[in-house]
This record gives sequence, structure tokens and C-alpha cells, in this order.
Amino acid sequence: MSANIIDGKKVAQLTRDEVRKDVDDWMDAGNRPPFLQVVLVGNNPASDVYVGAKTRACKEVGIETDTMRLPDTVSAKELKATIHKLNKDDSVDGILVQLPLPNHLSAHDVIESIDYRKDVDGFHPMNVGRLTVGQPSFRSCTPAGIIELFKHYSIPTKGKHAVVVGASNIVGRPISILLNKESGEQGKATTTVCHKFTKDLTQHTIGADILVVAAGQPELIKAEMVKEGVVVIDVGINRVADETKEKGYSLVGDCDFESVKEKASWITPVPGGVGPMTVAMLMKNTLLAAKKSIYPE
Ligand code: NAD
Repeated sequence: MSANIIDGKKVAQLTRDEVRKDVDDWMDAGNRPPFLQVVLVGNNPASDVYVGAKTRACKEVGIETDTMRLPDTVSAKELKATIHKLNKDDSVDGILVQLPLPNHLSAHDVIESIDYRKDVDGFHPMNVGRLTVGQPSFRSCTPAGIIELFKHYSIPTKGKHAVVVGASNIVGRPISILLNKESGEQGKATTTVCHKFTKDLTQHTIGADILVVAAGQPELIKAEMVKEGVVVIDVGINRVADETKEKGYSLVGDCDFESVKEKASWITPVPGGVGPMTVAMLMKNTLLAAKKSIYPE
């Protein structure tokens, strides 16, 4: 059996179309366009690519955006002062500080300095905490995008055993919480969260009905580590050297796609799976911020 492909590009396009329509309605009602302020520190080439994708998506859906570029020598004090100004600026709906930050800056401190009502990445402890206790919050974009994929393809999660490989604050941990939720339409799975200290990873992955992999380890998951019929969500984006490519590298996920797809019932490709959904969900969050839907005044 070869898996059905979960087409994140297609679902992301549908999501952006929906946001475009909602933005038009919002503006037809006499409101200004939503505004996303991106803050980019230093010259990380991957960050440039991600910010480029976010800027293009904003243009497509009618969200205005600006990227503030700060040198990698910026101090924590200067960066936080900049963020505090944006917090107070009523023309700014969403603030996104592109990660990773240079080593001398604490991502935790910087994220906490963002007004949680403008935290469209959903990384602020207020949003993470509210997500955990099932209160309305900005949901971080990658986990929210994965839930959209389950919804779109009507892939059931209720009562399933979901195994998450990776426990980061931006992907692994929040998706495990969303999948494990007992209330609402989605979730209701039993979840196991694995990380780099997990002994015998296969012992866990082999029992998964749903396997979400966000470890940042190229092709960590092989066919012999999963059971027949598993639903695989591969979040990993890894650059591996490839002389046949003009750029000198190709992108691979955290799963050995070719072998795993022979056993899975559903699988996300890399690229074209989870990645586009992350950007689309950022558009959704920015519109929610402009409308003050989550935190009414
Ligand atoms: P991270 O480095 O912050 O966290 C990695 C997690 O994986 C940690 O919990 C670590 O303990 C665990 N881990 C590492 N090696 C492991 C192993 N051998 N076995 C089990 N667990 C292991 O990474 P992150 O920010 O969560 O990102 C993970 C991957 O997802 C990266 O490739 C990243 O580029 C990608 N990513 C993709 C998107 C997207 O939109 N598709 C968004 C965010 C991250």
C-alpha cells in the first residue's frame, strides 16, 4: 500500500483564500487592513527565506507588513525597547520576532516582552498557558496547521494513539497538547511525547496510529519503526548536501519518505506538507489579532 499524500500546499492555499475573503469583508466594514510587524535580527539565510514566504503570503491575503531589520549586535535592552514601542502602537496588530536569535539574546525574554495580544506566533507564555488549559489563545502556527490538515482530510484523532517525536515549545509540546485535548472537535487522542532522552524510540513509534515527527533529524524515522496504516506528519525541514542540485543541498524531512510512505495510510511530504500550513496559520492569527477576536478590548 502506498500512502495518501497530505497536500499542505493545497490546504494552505484554501486557508489563504479564506483569509483573503475575511480580510476583504473586514475592510468593507470600514476597518483598515491588518498589519503584521516582523522583526528580523542578524543575517540568518534560512530566516530570510522564512520571512520572505511570510511577506509574500501577507501580500496575497491583503495583510500589510513591514520587516524591521536589526543588526546581530543589537542588545537585549534595545530589542526589548523596540518591541515595547510596537506593543503600544495601535497601528500594529501582530508582532513576530523571527527565530532563532543570536546567542547573546534570550528568545524566552524577547518573546515575553511582546504583548500577548499581539503574539501572532502563539509563543508567549500567556498564550501557551491558555492553550494548555483550553482557553482561547493564539495557537502556535505549526501545530495549528497540523490540526487544520487533520480537519481538511477528515482524519480522525479521537481515541487514537498519537506519538510525537520532539518536545520543543514551538512544535512538539503544543501539538501534543492539542492532540490530547478532551474538549472541542479535535484532539481526544492519547499522546506519547518522545525527545532526545527517550530510550528505544522504536518501542514508542511502532505503536503510533498518528506519528508527528518534529526532531530536526534528517530521516530519523524508517519504515521498520512504524506500523502499517499509520498517519505520518513530518514537520522536519533539514538541508542535506546534494551535488545534483544547483543550490548544493536538498530539503528532507525527519522521515525516510520513500520507505515510510509504503506503510503509512497518510503522509505529509517535505517540502509541501506542514511548511505552507505554518505560514497560512500566521495569516489567520494576524487577522484574529486585528479583529481582537481572542482578546476583546
Ligand atoms: P528543536 O531543536 O527546538 O527541538 C527538537 C526536539 O526533538 C527536542 O525536543 C529534542 O529533544 C527532540 N529530538 C532531537 N533528536 C531526537 C531523537 N534522535 N529522538 C527523539 N527526539 C529527538 O526543533 P523544532 O524547532 O521543534 O523543529 C523541529 C524540526 O521541525 C526542524 O527540522 C525544524 O526545521 C522543523 N520545523 C518546521 C516547521 C514547519 O513549518 N514545517 C516549523 C518549525 C520547525
